[in-house]
Amino acid sequence: MSTERIKIYKFGGASVKSAASFRNLARIVKSQGGKRQLLVVVSAMGKTTNALEALHGMAYQGQNFISEFEQLKEYHLQVLQELFAEQDHPAFQRLEHLFEQLHNQLQEITPNSNFDKVYDQTVSFGELFSSTILHYFLEDQDLANSLIDSRKYIQTDTNWREGKVDWAWTERLIRRDVPALLEQGLVVTQGFLGGTNNGLTTTLGREGSDFSAAIFAYCLNAGGMYIWKDVEGLLNADPKHFPDTVRYPEISYQETVEMAYYGASVIHPKTIKPLANKRIPLYVKSFLNPEGEGTKICDCRFEVVAPAYIIKEKQCLVSFGVKDFTFISEKNLGTIFNALSELRIKIHLMQNSAISFSICTDYNPERLHRLIQTLQDQFVIHYNTELKLYTVKNYNAASINRIMEGKQVLLEQRTRTTFQVVSR
Ligand code: ASP
Ligand code: MG
Repeated sequence: MSTERIKIYKFGGASVKSAASFRNLARIVKSQGGKRQLLVVVSAMGKTTNALEALHGMAYQGQNFISEFEQLKEYHLQVLQELFAEQDHPAFQRLEHLFEQLHNQLQEITPNSNFDKVYDQTVSFGELFSSTILHYFLEDQDLANSLIDSRKYIQTDTNWREGKVDWAWTERLIRRDVPALLEQGLVVTQGFLGGTNNGLTTTLGREGSDFSAAIFAYCLNAGGMYIWKDVEGLLNADPKHFPDTVRYPEISYQETVEMAYYGASVIHPKTIKPLANKRIPLYVKSFLNPEGEGTKICDCRFEVVAPAYIIKEKQCLVSFGVKDFTFISEKNLGTIFNALSELRIKIHLMQNSAISFSICTDYNPERLHRLIQTLQDQFVIHYNTELKLYTVKNYNAASINRIMEGKQVLLEQRTRTTFQVVSR
């Protein structure tokens, strides 16, 4: 039995946001993918994950969530009604049941719950809904498929909201069942979700469905992984911010990892490593134009790559000063790094001077407050919010001028390949 030809398709929220998008997806599977040896990984519909995060937050604060809950249910039922003519189609019953489970889950949440743990048990429903709909819809389209529960395959620890994958175990489970299912037909599963050894749900971090697809690709020795997006491929900037983007026809794993690290939102940062380890090419293609060339990310090397512009929004700059006019010591830095690591605050950029140390990070008021509480006895802490971190990778003089134009810069840093500024 050869597993060489297995393909993994990942469809994000935008590609399943409406009945029309589900129909488009089925067309792509039919025309591009075929009926066997294809595993489809799907995200939650549209902005469902955000809606579930909001529901979880409301339940945690003891607020009444019923109207938001009904709204989310209505959205899903609406899509079902458009996709399935018969109102007694099993998909309706299945969805009703899942929504009932979500409702029970929300009711169990109290202000004393473990916030992150119940987050995973709640927010995971988005992918359970979308994968269930997709399963029945593809079946109706003459695309027989097995729906598998990725929580039973991708095994993680209990690092809630960012489960750490147990690779050996995950690989064993996937290889035990999935190749045989792929021989028979399509396989559909959820992105973003993992499971623990005692049957609890974990998630792999926001936008983690790309990573899920890469985990399956790795474990199945897939011939290629495809991410279907609403853009033509991997672009050098976000078209929302830059009118004149260029598409990279082919780019190396290394370049892509670095772009993801700096915040290019096109691919989840953890996605590349498992693919690169097995040299599985990653294709980024447009679900609006499936025939388009897209981008091939692979083990290639090009000398000249167009400058990539990456913007991280909602940043804050936090500076730590020592209280007694002595210098910032390595011991001080150790204390600060420890606190950051404990609170899982990720540093996007850092800089130190004689008497202070600054970091640029996502603005999360709750975590920042805890950081200040932890360190305020030892340091004078200041912070600025509503900032942006601009990164230009493979910069040149023109690209720097472009990014600096009209900006009030708070911090600037450059290496041989990368230029970064934090500004308002
Ligand atoms: N649905 C999840 C999210 O919105 C995972 C994903 O889309 O990749 O973050
Ligand atoms: Mg998404």
